[in-house]
Amino acid sequence: MEREPLKNEGLEEKSKNFLEEIIEEDLKSGKHAGRVLTRFPPEPNGYLHIGHAKSICLNFGLAQRYGGKTNLRFDDTNPVKEDIEYVDSIKEDVRWLGFEWANEFYASDYFEQLYEWALVLIRKGLAYVDDQTQEEIRLTRGTVTQAGKNSPYRDRSAEENADLFKRMRAGEFKDGDKVLRAKIDMGHSNMLMRDPILYRILHTDHHRTGDKWCIYPMYDYAHGQSDSLENITHSICTLEFDVHRPLYDWFIEKLEIFPSHQFEFARLNMTYTMMSKRKLLQLVQEKVVMGWDDPRMPTICGLRRRGYTPESIRNFAEKVGVAKRDNVIDISLLEFCLREDLNKRAERRMAVLNPLKVVITNYPDNQVDRLDAVNNPEDETAGKRIVHFSKEFYIEREDFMENPPKKFFRLAIGQEVRLRYAYFIKCTDVVKDSSGNIIELHCTYDPASKGGNSPDGRKVQGTIHWVSAKHAINAEIRLFDRLFSKENPDDVEEGQNWKSSINPESMKITQGFVEPSLASAKPLDKFQFERMGYFTVDYDSKPGSLVINRTTTLKDTWAKISGL
Ligand code: ATP
Ligand code: MG
Repeated sequence: MEREPLKNEGLEEKSKNFLEEIIEEDLKSGKHAGRVLTRFPPEPNGYLHIGHAKSICLNFGLAQRYGGKTNLRFDDTNPVKEDIEYVDSIKEDVRWLGFEWANEFYASDYFEQLYEWALVLIRKGLAYVDDQTQEEIRLTRGTVTQAGKNSPYRDRSAEENADLFKRMRAGEFKDGDKVLRAKIDMGHSNMLMRDPILYRILHTDHHRTGDKWCIYPMYDYAHGQSDSLENITHSICTLEFDVHRPLYDWFIEKLEIFPSHQFEFARLNMTYTMMSKRKLLQLVQEKVVMGWDDPRMPTICGLRRRGYTPESIRNFAEKVGVAKRDNVIDISLLEFCLREDLNKRAERRMAVLNPLKVVITNYPDNQVDRLDAVNNPEDETAGKRIVHFSKEFYIEREDFMENPPKKFFRLAIGQEVRLRYAYFIKCTDVVKDSSGNIIELHCTYDPASKGGNSPDGRKVQGTIHWVSAKHAINAEIRLFDRLFSKENPDDVEEGQNWKSSINPESMKITQGFVEPSLASAKPLDKFQFERMGYFTVDYDSKPGSLVINRTTTLKDTWAKISGL
């Protein structure tokens, strides 16, 4: 069969990852008739995080590259923890990342087929109903060095097992009374092959199947067969499933069904981040954060609210690559990808986060200058806008020092700076309140320096930003820092848990001033506030009361680390 040419130009230049090599081998050898079908299989028990994004980009990316397709399959085999809220959020996040699935499937769609296959295993003498408690089963599993013990119920006849299993389904037994186990080998060197549990009784409603079932398949029993039912060619999962692969293959072999194959890659770990859904849920439930989409969360919806773009996340996933061994990625790589993207797309604006008022004593009282400002030096099509300048304006408190050290090139008494797009100004004196705090600066300006150009070749070293007081609009600005103060939040002193790594100062709120052009900004609009970083309008923002998140500062720590 003729194949479409590879989609990603330039791919050849980059060395291929091991999954690309495997797929290209398979395509060459004609395995699966040149077909590539991957799947992304989330369990709907939480919101997706940046680790899932890596997996999404990998599964969808490989399929795109080789003219294949990807299914979205919800691994909904544990009704206790799953919910439709999570299903909806997962779909939204995958789409937002820029991917569209070929089919939306649910493991629960396969419950009937999985049940039938369990009966096939029973008939073949490869599965049995065990009356032992979960605890007894655990205790008789043995250890890595010691074989386990056979269950006293292991030799039940196929007829008896089939009868008991049907009655399990019919609801005749209570939770925990019985389980269905595969009959493999209690002395197997791989503990997962020691008669693993296939079904347990759970009298719990399922978010899709309601009360139809009171027995539910275990992950290992459902996952591979679901792949097989969908004719998945390359089932990609993270390294910890390596030890599950023999079982994955065992079911496929014994049931004589489509031979999907599992490939493992190293999961994404990132510094200053936690990627356990269970722990993220705790942060939400204990109100450490504002919700799953809190801008400090590593969730996809949190990153979106923070101001991340799909492009920056996809680019990050590409840069991280596909490893065969566990590693930890520096979070500054993610921030680097974000800045790289926002630098191209975010329009520049001026905003003052920590305001100090300045009055130009020699500027006419009612004069207003309309000054040209470039929206984005990286993008000509972004055009220009007008910024208004008047007698009174705000600057950043940190841009003035009463007793400056030698190399302080910003504003100080007697020192001249350039106001971005506007004029050269020189500070003449400061106004203080009764407790000695500086509340206002008095300056003079040079009318001949309009536009910020030197009138006579004299140089000023510093350029600072400002917002005209008369024109400014208020904004609540949320400054975020890392949610955890440790590179590895789990690395804690004895007797403490990961929660002691939470950074108590991860959010600071300031009242700032922004240009009036932001009045019509909508949630998720992104800007670079000159000198201050990238900012994104928050969902909490309303006309007349702007709320803006700091997405990231301008300072790039990745370049330093990587030696770029
Ligand atoms: P759970 O503990 O709930 O199983 P999980 O993170 O494994 O959590 P799943 O919903 O089972 O969540 O994951 C869906 C897919 O995403 C799986 O294929 C899984 O291997 C992959 N995945 C999850 N976490 C990461 C990660 N940190 N890096 C890469 N892939 C991941
Ligand atoms: Mg999982």
